[in-house]
Amino acid sequence: MQTPAVNDNNRVKGVLYIVSTPIGNLEDISLRALRILREVDLIAAEDTRRTRQLLSHYDIHTPLTSYFDGNQESKSEKLIARLTTGNSVALVSEAGTPTISDPGHRLVVRCIDAKIDIIPIPGPTACITAASVAGMPLNAFVFEGFLSPKSGKRRRQFTAVCEENRTLIFYESPHRLTPFLQDALEILGDRHAVVARELTKKFEEIFRGTVSEALRRFTVTPPRGEFTILIAGNRK
Ligand code: SAM
Repeated sequence: MQTPAVNDNNRVKGVLYIVSTPIGNLEDISLRALRILREVDLIAAEDTRRTRQLLSHYDIHTPLTSYFDGNQESKSEKLIARLTTGNSVALVSEAGTPTISDPGHRLVVRCIDAKIDIIPIPGPTACITAASVAGMPLNAFVFEGFLSPKSGKRRRQFTAVCEENRTLIFYESPHRLTPFLQDALEILGDRHAVVARELTKKFEEIFRGTVSEALRRFTVTPPRGEFTILIAGNRK
């Protein structure tokens, strides 16, 4: 079934589309996402430069505006004003699914309050992409996103999930990967872990082992690129 055309003249208010975009490989975008990006009046993008590359790859010429952490509050109001007058808007983040460890929450809440329809256009997200190849139990899991950059708080956050028996999934930046693994080792213990690096890109790597083996691997070769980490739940 196809969704109705974006510019449906029977609609009084516009629609906000939450559009997932590739996490690396530009082919990882749905036909529906491309159609919506082509048909909406405006695309609100976390990183307009990165989104312009995606749009030019697919010969899409929809106007862009920026929507990022620093302007979420003021920009949400402006976008609500456009939506209320009947314009349709697509929200995209730098990569993956908006609102998942990315801006968008404020706008979604404002649209709910203003009774503006919100339609999800599903697609890639790094945590699910990594999970799909991890080989770890995933009937239920806990997505923790980014832990604190500060070791003290990060250790308390690890302590808070120490008894959790579901698989744990984290995002981490390359320069914090080894301190993250060090704290995980000390607080959670030497559990099974999967470190997924640069998924869908040229240097994609899926490391499977224990936390201490991952720590050794990424100490020998300094971590580069984007990382999603899965750590086994408590098996005691
Ligand atoms: N909204 C995005 C999503 O749906 O996955 C996540 C945005 S968050 C700001 C970015 C983090 O996602 C990176 O620091 C990394 O932890 C993870 N990530 C993004 N792309 C990735 C990739 N290609 N491979 C592994 N992890 C990735």
